[in-house]
Amino acid sequence: MPSRREEKPPSGTATPRKGRRRFPRGGPTKDEVKKLREALLVLRASILESSRKLADEALKGSGQDFSVDHMADHGTDNFEQDFSLSLLEGETELFREIQRAIDKIDGKGDLPYALCENCADEQPAEDSPERCGTCPWIPLGRLEAVPYARLCVVQQELEEEGQA
Ligand SMILES: [Zn+2]
Repeated sequence: MPSRREEKPPSGTATPRKGRRRFPRGGPTKDEVKKLREALLVLRASILESSRKLADEALKGSGQDFSVDHMADHGTDNFEQDFSLSLLEGETELFREIQRAIDKIDGKGDLPYALCENCADEQPAEDSPERCGTCPWIPLGRLEAVPYARLCVVQQELEEEGQA
């Protein structure tokens, strides 16, 4: 098998392309990404559906008057409505994450899909406790469980600790 060599432009014209970051090799294969994208589309559709239901419930809970004034007067009294709204907020957040992942797959993001956002630039040292097995790429098993994951498990946990 002939070895593939890096193609070099003729000397003199060798200007490095700007605005293109180099990313480490690895990550899921095209077929794997295709499956993950399909999973994301299914997730997105179900989020839209449940968001719509939650919004309906929140509106119903408010009675006839779903105005800002009404919310200010009665918002905290109406537990059910608050609950629907907070669920809706969570759904919206999730929707954004899903959309972001789809955009990445479609090449519209800053980083490629499946690259751990916290490990993308600096690879932690070999013996660092913050390093997961496959960094900087998010392991396929994690993506299959959470296709919109932006971080490897280790970094995700660190981030959640920081928020607590
Ligand atoms: Zn990572």
